[in-house]
Amino acid sequence: MEESQEFAELWQRNLISSPDGGTGWDLINDEQFLSGSFDLNIFGDVVNEQPQSSTSPPTASVPVATDYPGEHGFKLGFPQSGTAKSVTCTYSSDLNKLFCQLAKTCPVQMLVDVAPPQGSVIRATAIYKKSEHVAEVVRRCPHHERTPDGDVLAPPAHLIRVEGNSLAVYREDDITHRHSVAVPYEAPQLGAEWTTVLYNFMCNSSCMGGMNRRPILTIITLETHEGQLLGRRSFEVRVCACPGRDRKTEESNFGKDQETKTLGKTPSTTKRSMTKESSSSTPRSEGSKKAKLSASSDDEIYYLPVRGKERYEMLKKINNGLELSDMVPPADVDKYLQKLSTKAKKDGQTPEPKRGKKLIVKDAKSDSD
Ligand SMILES: [Zn+2]
Repeated sequence: MEESQEFAELWQRNLISSPDGGTGWDLINDEQFLSGSFDLNIFGDVVNEQPQSSTSPPTASVPVATDYPGEHGFKLGFPQSGTAKSVTCTYSSDLNKLFCQLAKTCPVQMLVDVAPPQGSVIRATAIYKKSEHVAEVVRRCPHHERTPDGDVLAPPAHLIRVEGNSLAVYREDDITHRHSVAVPYEAPQLGAEWTTVLYNFMCNSSCMGGMNRRPILTIITLETHEGQLLGRRSFEVRVCACPGRDRKTEESNFGKDQETKTLGKTPSTTKRSMTKESSSSTPRSEGSKKAKLSASSDDEIYYLPVRGKERYEMLKKINNGLELSDMVPPADVDKYLQKLSTKAKKDGQTPEPKRGKKLIVKDAKSDSD
């Protein structure tokens, strides 16, 4: 009962959160962002205006995301988890992207060539990947923020948590209001090359009112106790119901994308040559943009003109359902469906398709009120 209430709440929020009573996914304007695969230079451009980008504090108004191994040779590692259906956290080195389920353990290995000074810390901050969103602070959606989950250490609005470390310090920057979590740097145990920090991501990428399908980067910085930057690494994160499936899909799209590039006349994949190519060969100008966008397959927005209000409402309902099912782990979806069929039986309805259809229509009507 509680779960279906939560479901109803999610549903309602979904309807409320859109200003025009629409669905809200037209908020993201992918057309403005030509490069589907992440280009770290967009941050470089912003940051290079500051003379000392590499040593600027991680809480600068727009945090720097470019890799900076520093004198200590700071690097990250990820355990190999594959793309099985059951996997809850898996990293793609092709995409430099972590795929994980909400609140599941994500081990990140911290490696250095030279030990940092005593008292150094490792800090994690999330930022939006696309330039048009980067100014906004990444925080949890209102629904998850106000749902108690028993964690006493982490502020409820923080997306990133550290698991199993009572020394974790959560911070909201006074000026930028960006969230971060820091843990003391620990030297690897004898015989080990790295230390592991366990992170949790506490919202789905699709959470409405939160990340709202906007891709994020997690920036990990190695800092001295006084907050001086020693090293920096970043990776993209997608929090979703099926990390294995989504990684497989995105990697295969990425592979196709690479193939397209190789088949094209220009072997170089630099930004300049892509731009040059698309302006010189007209048939590819639109096509190459699409091919590049497909690197982030699932988050790409498509528009569908629909004739007639009734049909539009119907398709919107289907789409809302799909959006919601993205937010719910498959096991929970099964539970909802079981509950629905139990309810149908209790109401004296046989689970015939015709009756079932009637029930769904009735529910959908009451939900949209
Ligand atoms: Zn959320």
